[in-house]
Amino acid sequence: MAEKKKIVIIGSGFAGLSAACYLSAEGHDVTILEKNDQAGGRARIWQKDGFTFDMGPSWYWMPDVFEEFFGHFGKTAADFYDLKRLDPAYRIYYSGKDQIDVPASLDALVEVFEQKEKGGGKKLRQFLADAEYKYKTAMSDYVERISDKVTEFFDFKLIGKSFQLHLLQSLRKEVRAKFKSPQLVSLLEFPSLFLGSTPDNTPAMYTMMNYADLVLGTWYPMGGMNQIVQAMVKIAKDNGTKILLNQTVEKIQVVKGRATEVMVNGKTYQADSVIAGSDYHHTEQTLLDAEYHTYDEKYWDSRVLSPSSLLFYIGVNKKLPELLHHNLFFDEDFETHAQEIYHEPSWPSAPLFYASAPSKTDPSVAPEGMENIFLLMPLAPGIEDSEAMREKYFKIMMKRLQKKIGEQFEANIVVKRSFCLTDFEKDYNSYKGNAYGLANILSQTAIWKPKMKSPKVKNLFYTGQLTVPGPGVPPSIISGRMAAREVLRQIKAKTI
Ligand SMILES: Cc1cc2nc3c(=O)[nH]c(=O)nc-3n(C[C@H](O)[C@H](O)[C@H](O)COP(=O)(O)OP(=O)(O)OC[C@H]3O[C@@H](n4cnc5c(N)ncnc54)[C@H](O)[C@@H]3O)c2cc1C
Repeated sequence: MAEKKKIVIIGSGFAGLSAACYLSAEGHDVTILEKNDQAGGRARIWQKDGFTFDMGPSWYWMPDVFEEFFGHFGKTAADFYDLKRLDPAYRIYYSGKDQIDVPASLDALVEVFEQKEKGGGKKLRQFLADAEYKYKTAMSDYVERISDKVTEFFDFKLIGKSFQLHLLQSLRKEVRAKFKSPQLVSLLEFPSLFLGSTPDNTPAMYTMMNYADLVLGTWYPMGGMNQIVQAMVKIAKDNGTKILLNQTVEKIQVVKGRATEVMVNGKTYQADSVIAGSDYHHTEQTLLDAEYHTYDEKYWDSRVLSPSSLLFYIGVNKKLPELLHHNLFFDEDFETHAQEIYHEPSWPSAPLFYASAPSKTDPSVAPEGMENIFLLMPLAPGIEDSEAMREKYFKIMMKRLQKKIGEQFEANIVVKRSFCLTDFEKDYNSYKGNAYGLANILSQTAIWKPKMKSPKVKNLFYTGQLTVPGPGVPPSIISGRMAAREVLRQIKAKTI
């Protein structure tokens, strides 16, 4: 091993934890400084009266990425949690009485497509074969490029492949050229919401997410999504990482273009390298002196952010047999809601929303005979947040949810907490209260994303959902590995 280095990581989200696992496994002295009282960042948990709520992510997609991560440490996901494939994966409620349950089996899904649109089954198979090519190409040839310089992509083979990825066409155009049924279209356009964008602004390359969704499947780690955090914390600690909680970093001290110390409440942590897993805008604008900022406020203000969210964590003291684990409420007009997120930022006139009930799969997250429910309504970042607005939208979501499942349960709510824009800002130092970073539109993809390597502070690296490869749990884990690799390259250690 090269000389043992002191590496300070700011933030214990998936990206920070991932970087810590790799670097401590290489024998370095790694310390994570986390402002909150538990690790996991946006994937923290909230526990009350026997309920355990995952506060952020709830969809376990791309199990291959998790296996690859654990594999680096000689483990598999099964060493830490029991992974269940959900079948049906999820339900989409449309207006009126229409709904689709998305089956885990591809043959069954082909049947669903055929019923909704003559010839739709065959077209789905072709569409998914194309999506598989994109997924495999993106995951092998693109995802781990740090996108520092455009020349990284100067490779004839890669340029050829880029055309096949349909980078310049929108996801919407590609889907709608093949499918006419509005319900199938919205099913296939839905993953763009994961990317924090709208289908017309998302490059068609991202139909690879349809492969992730419909072929690789929707999974659930028993015990909840926070089990992934616990697994990563264990690997990090077993390799010697120190995870210090309640440590709000106030400054990164830079001397002669190098980060030398990280300061927390009058205490300093010396560093040979610093990785910032905290939100990029906050790290730059608050923790660094102005001369070391790569981007100014004007740049940040011009970025298209992914939506924020209004969230509710609800405990219900009875079972709701009609509810599935994942339920998407697409029973209102998507275009209007998208307009109110991206173009005329305001509280939505008729929102789409999502309800998750992990207690349908996992008895450990709610007391016996009760349900654990999570509501998520996408919302424009940077708008006004008030208790009255939260409550207004709670009523709207509850009314629609109860009507769709044909059961009233508002009076049975025994635990309730909301989480919205001001909480994202306060708890995660999130820019404009964004929930999952920058929207994955073409002008914010790869080389157009905020850079992982600071051009002004030699040994400072950014990781997480606001840099490459982008938002989501799997990309954040990959981002941490990429940042770790850059540190190892710089200190001329064996690379991972
Ligand atoms: C509501 C919601 C639902 C989501 N659903 C899904 C999903 O279903 N599936 C999926 O794959 N992805 C989902 N995502 C996205 C995914 O959760 C994120 O992309 C991912 O967790 C981001 O990880 P990160 O490490 O980049 O950032 P974070 O998790 O935000 O970690 C950053 C850490 O830095 C800390 N920090 C900030 N400032 C400081 C400071 N000054 N000092 C010390 N520490 C600091 C923060 O407290 C935080 O712990 C969802 C996100 C949200 C919010």
